[in-house]
Amino acid sequence: MKKVFIYFFAFLFICFILPALLTKSEINASSEINNDKTDEDQGKESLQSYAYNQYGTIKLLHTDSNEVEEVALDTYLCSVVSAEMPVDFEKEALKAQAIVARTYTIYKINHKKHDNADICDDSNCCQAWISKEDRLARWDGDKEAKWNKIEECVKETQGKIITYNHQPINAFFHSNSGGKTELPVDVWGGR
Ligand SMILES: [Zn+2]
Repeated sequence: MKKVFIYFFAFLFICFILPALLTKSEINASSEINNDKTDEDQGKESLQSYAYNQYGTIKLLHTDSNEVEEVALDTYLCSVVSAEMPVDFEKEALKAQAIVARTYTIYKINHKKHDNADICDDSNCCQAWISKEDRLARWDGDKEAKWNKIEECVKETQGKIITYNHQPINAFFHSNSGGKTELPVDVWGGR
C-alpha cells in the first residue's frame, strides 16, 4: 500500500509539478533575456540621442600653418589615439583612449574654443594629433600593422562616448599624473 502512494506521488510529480517547475525556469530565463535586451536597447537609445552620424567630419586647425582641414572624425581619432598613447599598449587601453578622445572631441565641437575650427592639433590647447604619415615615419617594425591596431580600436568603439545626463562629459585626460592626481576644483576652480 505504501508503495502505491510513492508511485502515485511520483506520477503526480512527473506529470504536473516537474513541468510547472520547468516552465517557471524558462520564464525566468526569457525575462532575463528581455532585461538584457532592454539594457541593450537603452544603450542604443542613449547613443542615438546624440546622433553620432551627425559628426561625420570635423574642422581641424593645424596650429603650425594656421590652416583648417576638414577630416572624417574616425580618421581624426586614429591620429589622436596614436599621438596620445604608445601603440604597444594593450588594445583595451587604446580602446579606452579612443572613447575618451571621442568624448572630448564631441564636447569640443559643441563648446568651440576656436572661431573657425572645432578643435586644434595642439595638446596644450585641445588634443594631441599626428598625421598618419608622420606617425608611420616615427615607428619602427611593422608600421602598417601598428596603424591597423589603432584603426581597429577606433572602429571597435565607434560611436561610444562617456555621457552624464545624456550629454557628453568634458573628458579631460593626462599622459602622466606624476604619481598623484588633483581635484578638478583645485585646478580649474568652480564648485
Ligand atoms: Zn585648441
